[in-house]
Parts: sequence; structure tokens; C-alpha cells
Amino acid sequence: MDGNGTYGRRVDALRSRLTATGAHALIVAPGSDLAYLSGYHALPLERPTLLIVRSDGPVALVAPLLERARAREEVLLDDVELHCYGELDDPFALTVDVLLQSTGPFDHAAPRRDDHDAGAVGERGGAQPAGREVLVGEQMWAGFLLQLQKRSGLLRWSSASAAMAHVRRRKDDEELRLLARVALAIDAVHARVPDVLRAGRTEREVADELAALIREDHDTVDFVIVASGPNSASPHHEPGPRTIVHGDAVVVDIGGSRDGYRSDMTRTYVIGEVPEGFADAYVALQAAHAAAVAAVRPGVTAGAVDAAAREVLDRAGLGDAFVHRTGHGIGLDTHEAPWIVAGSDVVLEPGMTFSIEPGFYLEGRHGARIEDIVAVTPDGVDVLNDVPRDLVVIA
Ligand code: ZN
Ligand code: ZN
Repeated sequence: MDGNGTYGRRVDALRSRLTATGAHALIVAPGSDLAYLSGYHALPLERPTLLIVRSDGPVALVAPLLERARAREEVLLDDVELHCYGELDDPFALTVDVLLQSTGPFDHAAPRRDDHDAGAVGERGGAQPAGREVLVGEQMWAGFLLQLQKRSGLLRWSSASAAMAHVRRRKDDEELRLLARVALAIDAVHARVPDVLRAGRTEREVADELAALIREDHDTVDFVIVASGPNSASPHHEPGPRTIVHGDAVVVDIGGSRDGYRSDMTRTYVIGEVPEGFADAYVALQAAHAAAVAAVRPGVTAGAVDAAAREVLDRAGLGDAFVHRTGHGIGLDTHEAPWIVAGSDVVLEPGMTFSIEPGFYLEGRHGARIEDIVAVTPDGVDVLNDVPRDLVVIA
């Protein structure tokens, strides 16, 4: 049950958005959108589980019969209509039926027989109102959408990305608490990296040990990047058999989830001796990170935050080596809106949470990145990670 009304408020906010944009309904498959709206972490099976929010009717969940007990137990949103289907039923036809059920006045304006644009006879023989827009969550498999389209006559399908980002990108107090909590959990792992990372071990060995440390205070390990020596110039390097040696720069970017919310944090380490040319570049990187964090406050655009980091690296001659955006939103997903990217006119608002992670990558030589998660507060910024950002030289 939705004890403190969290899920009800989220659905209300979404319904307002649907009404404002004239969309009839939104449909999402298992994933973070479905969990955000209902509390249900449904399994992504070949048998579809689909949550439907109509602008003018109750929320409905279409689910396989064998998931009924779990759905009843785990859906926290109140007053959800549960429509279960058996092994021989057509879940997509059922979903289209549910989408077309409506209690609002629009539904009573039956299509006229003499107006070909007002209605159509669908495959299943029912009259379908023309032109109703259904927003589809981006985590729905293409195969499901193709099945729905085949059965849905004149419904118009479009992306739910903007509507979901609109409601999800400002975190409520409980979400902020969970993000701060999981940030502390990953801080604790980075604080122990100097015990794990040393010359003579392979990236894979270090990554395995870090994964075990992440698991101590997270529910899942989402990714472990250990990129040593020349591999540190590849931002998403997969840890491999390379043996770490004296004089390596090592980028360690790690994250997991706790109570559904994600951590994501990067520090760069050096083994024994700082590589030639690295120290000055790292000083510029630290300044770029600090400039971007300092730029974060309500009313500023995401593009301006990206520019703050980029200007510092440009001045240091590292502009071309900063090959990615400055950051990404984080919450139930590791990467979600808002995107802290050049040219973005998204205006920051209190409750938005995202990474600040400038880097430089010099192919064949080395690279570095500093990444923290920040939250926009009513008058500025709260940095959720708290491990020093100075270059750590491991003896
Ligand atoms: Zn990140
Ligand atoms: Zn990261």
C-alpha cells in the first residue's frame, strides 16, 4: 500500500503531464519507469507485464497469471486494476482493450459510421477511436510494441521519454535520501582502493576484489571499470588481463544500487610514479571538475555547467581530449535525464541529481576522470560524494 502517497503523487504528476500534452495514455514495461510509478520491480519476461496510466481512468496492470501473486504483493500504488492473462490468451489484444477503456467524456463520442477518419475497425472487430496518442516507455522491447501496433488500428504511438523525464528528473526527499545513502556506500569503497590496487595485479583481479567490496553495502554491482596505463585513455574500458605496473595511471569508475537507487563515482590513481605530463593535466581536470560543481544552482542551464568544465580543459589545451559530456542524471537508472551536455537548455531545478565527471583521454598514453554525484538544492548544490579529489599516488 502507498502508505505516504508517494506513488499516487507520481501518477498524478504524470496524469497532469498527459492532460497538458493531450496524450490519452502512457504504457511502460518492466524497468525503472514501471518501478517509479508503482513500486513494482517486475521481471522482464517474454510474457509482457505492462503498466498503463490513462489520462482519464484508473491505472491498470496487464500481467501474466503466474506473476499475479507477486504483482499483488509488490505493487505499492493504490487502486490498480489488475488484468491477468493465461498462457493461451493474447496479452497484446488485452492491453489494447485496456488502453481503449475509458471513463472520460471523450470515450462516449463514438466514431460516426460516415466519417472514415473518426474511427476504424481493428483486427479484433472493435471500433477504435482515431488519433489517440499513447506514450510508450523507452524500456519497452520493440517486439512488444510491434505486437501492440498490429492490434491497435488507429492509436498513435509515440515516445514517453519526455513525459517520464519531466516527472522523474526532480527527486523527492526520500529519493534524495536514498541517493545520498548509496553515495556514502561507494565512497567507502573508493576509500579502500589503495588497499586493493597495486603493481603486479591484473585489472581483472582488482575489479573482482572491488566488486566484492561494493557488494558489502550495495544490493547490486552495476559496473567496475579498472583502466590502467594506456587503457585509462578509453573511458569505458572493460577490465582485462593487463598487469598493472609502476608508473601507470589507473581510472577506477564503480557503481551499484541500494534500495533501487544508483551510485557512480570515479577517482584516478597513480602507481608509484606520476607519468610524464600527467600532473599538470590532472590539476586542470581538478579545476574543471570544481568549476562545473560551482556552476550548479537552480536557474542555470545544463549546457552552462558543461561549458564551465569544458572551458577550463580548453584553456589547458585538453579540450579535444575531453571526449564526452560532463554528466548524466542518476536515480533509479545510472544514466537518465537530465543530460549535462554542451548546448542543453534544460534549466536546473532543485531536486535534480546528476554526475559531474570531466575527463581527459590521450590515446596510447593515459587518461583521467573525476566523478561525483551532485544534487541541486534550492540555493546551490550538494555534493553527495565525499572522498578527496587530489591525485592519489599509491606506493
Ligand atoms: Zn557516470
Ligand atoms: Zn562513472
